[in-house]
Amino acid sequence: MLHCNCSIYGDEETREGLGVDPGDEIESILEIIERHELKVNAIVITHAHIDHIGGAQKLKRATGAPVYMNANDQALQQMMDVQAGWLGMRTPEATAIDVDAKDGDKLVLGTAEIHVMHTPGHTQGSISLWIPSEGKLVAGDTLFRGSIGRTDLPGGDGRQILRSIHDKLLPLPDETVVIPGHGQNTTIGLEKRVNPFLNGSVLRGA
Ligand SMILES: [Zn+2]
Repeated sequence: MLHCNCSIYGDEETREGLGVDPGDEIESILEIIERHELKVNAIVITHAHIDHIGGAQKLKRATGAPVYMNANDQALQQMMDVQAGWLGMRTPEATAIDVDAKDGDKLVLGTAEIHVMHTPGHTQGSISLWIPSEGKLVAGDTLFRGSIGRTDLPGGDGRQILRSIHDKLLPLPDETVVIPGHGQNTTIGLEKRVNPFLNGSVLRGA
């Protein structure tokens, strides 16, 4: 309903899989996992907004995979009924978090390393995943094509999100493909050139 991008990564050799932000529609996510014969061994939540975490417990039950989330989003996770109220939705089943995903942590998927970067600002526990061997960045709701994540919800901080993007995301190679939590993919190079939130004047005014 909220058009959150869930992404699934798999290693072609080992068939190990990783699910990111299973907000809802777990049946179609499981269908993709089955079609590619993946064994999901981690579920990563980029941040505890309902559209990113809502289906995580269901996917966890179906796959047996542990759930990773940054502990700074625990308070937000505990407000799931409030979040559901904002959207007029039913409160989803609570997700038991198994692992605190901290800045600098690495997950391994086959031969690929997945680096956890703490990129707070949209929420205090927002993380991005950098997969150097694939040249891909899973950005959650931190960076979008032509925009950045909103910071007006509880735990949001406008200066902090810009600092996270400038310090952690923009130094990545220009050709890095950015997979945001909503909308179309982009690249780091394109966002440096055209994203109106990332030029100096907006930064100074923030
Ligand atoms: Zn969000």
